[in-house]
Amino acid sequence: MKTMTCKQLGGACDKEFHANTFEEMAELSKKHAMEMFQMGDEAHLKAMNEMQELMKSPESMKEWFANKRKEFDAMT
Ligand SMILES: [Zn+2]
Repeated sequence: MKTMTCKQLGGACDKEFHANTFEEMAELSKKHAMEMFQMGDEAHLKAMNEMQELMKSPESMKEWFANKRKEFDAMT
């Protein structure tokens, strides 16, 4: 089980996610982001806007995911 924070995954708070795979981790982070979005949390809305900017370029999106995956894999 590995731990990453919302912030580490492009979010806005220190909430910790625990998962065995990077896919699972990304899914948890996405779910949390959606919850925060529905609550209208300003910090998360801002973070999500930034992510959406990033997603406009498939290249930088791929790079971002590759980096996060590396970070995840490097954890023990
Ligand atoms: Zn968060």
